[in-house]
Amino acid sequence: MDSVSRFVPDAVGVAPPSPADHCVLVAGRRLLAPFPRHADVAGLPDDVTWVPLGALDGVRVWAAGLPEKIDSLGRWRAWPSLAATLDEPLAALAGRALQIVTWRRSHRFCGACATELTDVPDEHARRCPGCDLYVPMQLSPAILTAIRRGDEILLVKHTYGPTELWALVAGFVEAGESLEEAVHREVAEEVGLTVDGLRYFGSQPWAMSGPGVILTGFMATAAPGAEPVIDGKELAEARWWPLRELPDALPPKYSISRWLIDAAAKSAGGTAG
Ligand SMILES: [Zn+2]
Repeated sequence: MDSVSRFVPDAVGVAPPSPADHCVLVAGRRLLAPFPRHADVAGLPDDVTWVPLGALDGVRVWAAGLPEKIDSLGRWRAWPSLAATLDEPLAALAGRALQIVTWRRSHRFCGACATELTDVPDEHARRCPGCDLYVPMQLSPAILTAIRRGDEILLVKHTYGPTELWALVAGFVEAGESLEEAVHREVAEEVGLTVDGLRYFGSQPWAMSGPGVILTGFMATAAPGAEPVIDGKELAEARWWPLRELPDALPPKYSISRWLIDAAAKSAGGTAG
């Protein structure tokens, strides 16, 4: 799978896969890497369901969720360590497989009448044969904010997840809220600051925080002299860092958190760790 140029996601395809198709196998939160061709996959359970993911340079890609790892097939890795070693679009493709398989495992029955759901052909969606409820794979938007104060950036340490990293203020968007409103609310809640000059930076699908998470990144500015106040529940620490002297323990290079921090550092004439 060297010199890959383009992955186009879709949900189209009728199993079984062809021998040359790519397969992304998922067991729990781990993926088999490198991704095998279908002809090289053996020993799967008879009832495995092949889920179409899209096309990689015109070759079909399929995902399958397994009840457990099959160690004879090769090396199983968690998405973060895999994504750190893969070039795009393969890291995003692995994330898509993990998200879709996780969603399918956790959306098996109708939330209204508890009947077992059936797949909708050519979509990542299910429908209830009992009450006709349509259950699409919904996305969960979240926001990240790189807050500047002059040539400094606000970095925070969380009380959960990778607690050793200096990260950005982040959170999920609430129902009925715009992305921009979510930024202002999360910044106020987590660090007690008011920001302005909000600018959209970019987005990234993120497979670590549950199925369907899409991260959206923003730049914002705090007033001179503004100091963060944390509540000690979600955040353990928050402090201003000079953009020319950032800490080493930053988010990984494949994450939009890091892209935001690097962009801020570059604009200030520095380089991130
Ligand atoms: Zn139903």
